[in-house]
Amino acid sequence: MALRQPGLIALFDVDGTLTAPRKGVTPTMLKFMQELRKVVNVGVVGGSDLVKISEQLGSTVINDYDYVFAENGLVAYKDGKLVGTQSLKTYLGEEKIKDFVNFTLHYIADLDIPIKRGTFIEFRSGMINVSPIGRNCSQEERDEFERYDKVHNIRSKMVEVLREKFAHLNLTFSIGGQISFDAFPKGWDKTYCLKYLEEFQEIHFFGDKTYKGGNDHEIYESERTVGHTVTSPDDTLSQCATLFLHKQD
Ligand SMILES: [Mg+2]
Repeated sequence: MALRQPGLIALFDVDGTLTAPRKGVTPTMLKFMQELRKVVNVGVVGGSDLVKISEQLGSTVINDYDYVFAENGLVAYKDGKLVGTQSLKTYLGEEKIKDFVNFTLHYIADLDIPIKRGTFIEFRSGMINVSPIGRNCSQEERDEFERYDKVHNIRSKMVEVLREKFAHLNLTFSIGGQISFDAFPKGWDKTYCLKYLEEFQEIHFFGDKTYKGGNDHEIYESERTVGHTVTSPDDTLSQCATLFLHKQD
């Protein structure tokens, strides 16, 4: 490892950056990452849990990179070892979670929309996902709700109410996909993992969703990183070759 540049790390989003969307990593990319690791420190940060990240990047993922951050860094590995965990349960505590769930369910109960199904709240380790129609609706009902929501702003009105009611919890609300929105503590986006990288003076981040509202936006914009937008795994490969291996393609 003597050749490696200390103080410098290349940090990668997973989906759409190291792999094609929802696909597994290619042998070419794996080999490239191992080459890159001889020159710089290499880390990955994904929004999914380690199980899903392992499905995409391989079962040896925590040993293949210097840092692996699952759930945006709420679960952190360094040199193959677990170095930190955080969860909504620990952070907020049961009382606050209960208040939020109770209020949200009451709000949904009073909501007059054409269709309601089931699973209105999904509690995840790093966020609460809320769906006014319910997550177990069919694809057709999903499409219908999305159209209805565009006209009636069901989700944005609900977010406005929750944001005010739970201002003391300091939550970020993110409306994404067709039928739901997420609520999570401020800063629990990909920038969360940066607290494990304080020893690095230069952090190069690569991601495909760096635009506003995209899940790479905050870390891309962060003062702590040099942000790079990529359009595909091939693009990641070529940008890294130029930057770190000084190869032109
Ligand atoms: Mg991505």
